[in-house]
Amino acid sequence: MKKIQMVDLQSQYQHIKAKVDDSVINVMENASFINGPSVKSFQKNLENYLNVKHVIPCANGTDALQIAMMGLNLKPGDEVITVDFTFAATVEVIALLNLTPVLVDVDLDNFNIDCNKIRKAITSKTKAIVPVHLFGQAANMAEIMEIAKEHNLYVIEDNAQAIGSAYQFRSGKKVKTGTIGDVGTTSFFPSKNLGCFGDGGAIFTNDDDLAHTLRGIVNHGMYKRYHHDVVGVNSRLDSIQAAVLNAKLPYLDSYNKARQNAARHYTSALKNNIGLLTPMAGYQCSQICENCDCHVFHQYTIRILNDKRDGLAKKLSNSNIPHGIYYPIPLHRQKAYLDSRYNEKDFSNTNLLCKQVISLPMHSELELDQINFICKKINAFLK
Ligand SMILES: *Cc1c(COP(=O)(O)O)cnc(C)c1O
Repeated sequence: MKKIQMVDLQSQYQHIKAKVDDSVINVMENASFINGPSVKSFQKNLENYLNVKHVIPCANGTDALQIAMMGLNLKPGDEVITVDFTFAATVEVIALLNLTPVLVDVDLDNFNIDCNKIRKAITSKTKAIVPVHLFGQAANMAEIMEIAKEHNLYVIEDNAQAIGSAYQFRSGKKVKTGTIGDVGTTSFFPSKNLGCFGDGGAIFTNDDDLAHTLRGIVNHGMYKRYHHDVVGVNSRLDSIQAAVLNAKLPYLDSYNKARQNAARHYTSALKNNIGLLTPMAGYQCSQICENCDCHVFHQYTIRILNDKRDGLAKKLSNSNIPHGIYYPIPLHRQKAYLDSRYNEKDFSNTNLLCKQVISLPMHSELELDQINFICKKINAFLK
């Protein structure tokens, strides 16, 4: 059996080495390191893939969120509703822009934002909702868009973990996550579903005016050379990273399929164990999500019952099985984001999940014997 890794970027590279190397060498030979042709072509390629009018490449997924909020012209004191259970980048940029983060609880079944809690959190100051498609699974976009329309709010989708996933509306129409709200963002951090070889990110929108604004903000607020109309930032996707992404984008769907396959094998090996819960169906599905496009399994995350999560983590470590606890502490209890308005009983689900969740190795190169080995250890421990 091959050594088990949480993410196996070496094997993935070996399979497409010639294509990636060619693409990167081309940038070096042309010395077009900043905003070169590879960046322009990646922008077009991603627009086609996502079926969205505008992709604005930028330096990383955190910048993408910040720039999206700057582009919507949110003002200090405006309230932005987002989830208590996610990576801190989402709440970090809200706070950095002097907006007021309003954290809400998630659904226990699929770790995504609880729409009833969104409704309860809305005040006259609320300006935007930031759903995160956590672990690769689409949030309840039909309802989120309805709430936003009712209350005249922006929707900014944090799609850093779900690129390639699609949400199916009741009409049957399927739309790629990140392109449903007013604006969507993603990250090309190496371990994400579409990763480059360093930092990278992008913003998506179908709104021509917003796209124009965002393209200026990523480039020092310049719409005409050396004319600075708004306060901007310097946030670019490197030409070399764009070259890597151009070589990898054609494989994204097959990578996501491989992840779904791995998820299906995990679930069939674990589902009869009453000491744990495997991932559940999403909002728009009647079936478990390993079979549809709404979940691209950035993580395969299970819930361990009866306070046995930390024991299992130790057991897996002893067997050299990597794993992750995403996330051990809810954002409302992080020192940087403490707020006296929060009440513990409003976060019962995130508080519980932080004690129960464990993420198992998940990547496009995972092999059946590795999954079987991992599940055997888990089933032996949780008898
Ligand atoms: C990775 C991630 C980000 C940040 O992306 P970076 O490229 O690392 O800045 C933001 N939100 C979520 C949900 C993420 O998983």
